[in-house]
Amino acid sequence: MTKFVVVVGGVISGVGKGVTTASVGKIFKEHGFSTTLIKIDPYINFDAGTLRPTEHGEVWVTDDGGEIDQDLGTYERFMDQDIPKQNNITTGQIYKTVIDKERRGEYLGETVQFIPHIPDEIIRRIKEASEGFDIAIIEIGGTVGDYENVPFLFALKALERDLGADSFVYMLVTYLPIPSHISEMKTKPTQQAIKLLRQEGVTPDFIICRGKQALDDIRKKKIETYLHIDSEYVISAPDVDTIYQVPLDLEQEQMGKKILGKLKLTSKKQPDWHSWQSLVHALKYPANRVRVAIVGKYLDTGDFSLTDSYVSIYQALIHAGASLNTGIDIVWIDAKRYEKDDTLLSDLLQFNGIVIPGGFGNAGTEGKIKVLHYARVNNIPCIGLCYGLQLSIIEFARNVCNLPHAHSTEVNPQAIDPVIDILPLQKQILAESEYGGSMRLGSYTAQIRDDSKVYDLYAQHNRLHNNTIQERHRHRYEVNPAYIERLEAQGIMFSGFHTRKDGTKLVEFAEFPNHPFFVTTQAHPEFKSRLGNPSPLFYGFVQACVHHQ
Ligand code: GLN
Repeated sequence: MTKFVVVVGGVISGVGKGVTTASVGKIFKEHGFSTTLIKIDPYINFDAGTLRPTEHGEVWVTDDGGEIDQDLGTYERFMDQDIPKQNNITTGQIYKTVIDKERRGEYLGETVQFIPHIPDEIIRRIKEASEGFDIAIIEIGGTVGDYENVPFLFALKALERDLGADSFVYMLVTYLPIPSHISEMKTKPTQQAIKLLRQEGVTPDFIICRGKQALDDIRKKKIETYLHIDSEYVISAPDVDTIYQVPLDLEQEQMGKKILGKLKLTSKKQPDWHSWQSLVHALKYPANRVRVAIVGKYLDTGDFSLTDSYVSIYQALIHAGASLNTGIDIVWIDAKRYEKDDTLLSDLLQFNGIVIPGGFGNAGTEGKIKVLHYARVNNIPCIGLCYGLQLSIIEFARNVCNLPHAHSTEVNPQAIDPVIDILPLQKQILAESEYGGSMRLGSYTAQIRDDSKVYDLYAQHNRLHNNTIQERHRHRYEVNPAYIERLEAQGIMFSGFHTRKDGTKLVEFAEFPNHPFFVTTQAHPEFKSRLGNPSPLFYGFVQACVHHQ
């Protein structure tokens, strides 16, 4: 039977619950337990598909086409394991299911109420997501004391009553501020978080104390006394250089053994942290460094939002860097910068590589097209992701194929040469479905040309099976098949296609064979990059950046 670890946050959000959850998952995996991670998002949105990236960070896409909060991405990056969309539970999903059921008359005239119907549906979903695993870790979004968390804590207590206290461990991840005017670490907010959690009937078994620095003995004692737990369950988790250090630090404190002890389990295997340790070492002390520009959008909302919007790209770069013992110095550049003044483009020469990320709509597109042109003609390594591929095709069509009016119908619906367009089947889906349901979403297979760079890279990383690969998608538009021959005739290589059921071939990868590294893809390979198992395309890109130095 599955055992559960519940992770809740105290004091402030953004305290590191996601990383703690992922780290504990990684620890269980190292101890030989099959483990899955579940994220509860107490918001009313059904999923993250329509959330603004500048507010919530990027939308994470699962293999099975879910559009999810980025915590699932953190889980996959630590666990090196696909996490399906059912592992993200939102308040919206719970209520929608209950109301739909009521409308279909399935409650047979009962009064449908918060108790028992809402907790029952929460429990049903948790059981479904955890079935077959030794351990499931459930992270509850937000902070204790939030109204919207209450139903979930209530449901988990009900499940605990059914399964027995040995099946549940609760962890409170809390924050200990050091106000600058007194320079002293304060435990009071943590005490209050404990109190709030107790009001919901939960006494935490572990307190993970996040803070700028490690917890000293005096404060550890305070928390211990307040909570009546042994100091071994009060874990200090100070800020670290890289999040991937966290499982190692927690294991220093014997975290695995301690939680397993509470769950009445013993390790199934001796953990082996050697390869993880050397990757973390490479992240912290790389032998080499490269400079990479990410030319994107979302920049006017401040650095924080920006980097969060491209979190998976950032992660994919550092994973590739860790495997190549190379540090990545990233400079975020607003594509609009290049729209009015071409002379500024020469500042791209100081980079070893350029990333053109995915995106939607008009903003910054002409700037990105100029950057793609500059990278192509100046032999600067370049990787284009999704919109990055589409804009690179537009650039090539305009500047090489003599189609000066080439564009995407996303930006110009009347484009004379719609080299990027919505294909008929997609139009039909768009007409029939609500916004959010009209995209090519999730994992798709691509057939790869065996004389391409893409082929070599996927083969090198054991990701090629019968000349096919799988990557995740999130887009509406495609390279217009009517232009493929004309583009190919001028030297671009379409190195991979997905063949749709109706026989239409969709471009998945494009590259310029005579360029040191210019590879673009309709997919989002950043969603399948994990520490120790980097994305082949990002690996090739970082390798090219090293050679470019
Ligand atoms: N806007 C483009 C499309 O919908 C690209 C999307 C993306 O980059 N994810 O096809």
